[in-house]
Amino acid sequence: MAKLHLITYGCQMNEYDSERVAGLLRERAYELTDDATAADVILLNTCAIREKAEEKVFSKLGELKSLKAARPDLVIGVMGCMAQLQQATVLRRAPQVDLVFGSPAIARVGELVERARREGRPVLETGEAPLVKITAKPPVVDRLKAFVTVMEGCEKHCTFCVVPRTRGRERSHEPAAIVAEVEGLVAEGCREVTLLGQTVNAYGRDLTPPTDLAELLARVNDVAGLERIRFTTSNPYNLTPKLIRAMREVPKVCEWFHLPLQSGSDRVLDRMNRGYTRGRYLELVDALRQAEPAMAFSTDVIVGFPGETEADFEATLELIERVAYDNVFVFRYSPRPGTPAAAMAEQLGDDVKADRNRRALEVAQRVGAQRSARLTGRTMEVLVDGTSRRNARELSGRTRCNRVVNFDGRGRVAVGDIVHVRVTDALPHSLRGTLTTPEEAVCWSK
Ligand code: SAM
Repeated sequence: MAKLHLITYGCQMNEYDSERVAGLLRERAYELTDDATAADVILLNTCAIREKAEEKVFSKLGELKSLKAARPDLVIGVMGCMAQLQQATVLRRAPQVDLVFGSPAIARVGELVERARREGRPVLETGEAPLVKITAKPPVVDRLKAFVTVMEGCEKHCTFCVVPRTRGRERSHEPAAIVAEVEGLVAEGCREVTLLGQTVNAYGRDLTPPTDLAELLARVNDVAGLERIRFTTSNPYNLTPKLIRAMREVPKVCEWFHLPLQSGSDRVLDRMNRGYTRGRYLELVDALRQAEPAMAFSTDVIVGFPGETEADFEATLELIERVAYDNVFVFRYSPRPGTPAAAMAEQLGDDVKADRNRRALEVAQRVGAQRSARLTGRTMEVLVDGTSRRNARELSGRTRCNRVVNFDGRGRVAVGDIVHVRVTDALPHSLRGTLTTPEEAVCWSK
């Protein structure tokens, strides 16, 4: 068998795409190797969301240059968002690359790799392509948790974001194809799925007949043997009362909501073209907490957006405190070529971005620690998914509200079990606890 080395950057959707690529190439007799020097084909699945992500790819391509020089028949390919957006730059800065293709062409990866091996000149494939649900099985089958892409593309046009240009129009997969994929995963031992889309809560409106995420959740909930459902990423603009009700009523849907805020200032939200105000965002958080009091929230925040004043930034800090997020992902604004925000006049300096990044993280960590402290003494449902990172004699798992819990369960519990753990300590990045019975399960309130 030929050998494939696959390097993945960026979001969960890229992880999912990489698995499909590995599955498709396995059908053409390629097996995965961790060793780049042993590979016949090296593929880099790239991210374009921030400049730093792109620089990482160029630096990796630089490292691979000597391999290509030593073995000219090695095929080096760049796929994914950066490939879609920057094909000319990739070929100019990294002439050792033989193949460049965007996400829409993933279904044809086998043919593209063969062409690159045969033709001996760069193969470029960055056009649109029909939506296909790839059914090739990833090579790893014994896993408890899996991602399932339910829609591709994005039509939001936030002024900072390249995704609409890298992943194209919004297109949803048919519910039956998604359910079939989940059933297949469960048959292989999977117990938790995360449904993926750039605006996952816009799911289904392009289908005939139209449907929505709430209906999809109900259908996936019916898959026997599946225990938990998560989904990401939602946009506040598309958050409907029906989906909020589904959070309460669909039993396998977990009490965890990733709801990107981006900014707590109305002025900045408007310049970002996000389509909601801070007041509306807070209303949605309240409605979700009313529907499900145990709901945990995580979010994305961008600091240093063009023209963001100190007062705008403080409004973001205030909102982080007010919502009391379990987890906040803070990003320094990175101007992306071709986006409206990159052309805005009031670009901020790196020092301002670095300072705001540090301050936002400080507030987020304090608020997250307070949320963790509240969990001490509670009993929570935990899906055991491995051993603790720090202590191989302890088991580790996640609560329904997406917290890592480590506990001593040796001899009594196995990976894949769902158990109840009483939280004894709240540490900065995880909880510790002891095995118990389900007398009070805060993240298990349905
Ligand atoms: N589609 C989702 C949305 O808009 O809510 C999230 C997609 S993106 C992969 C993840 C996060 O990256 C965004 O929520 C945003 O906070 C951040 N991001 C996107 N573009 C950025 C940029 N130009 N600079 C810094 N952060 C950015």
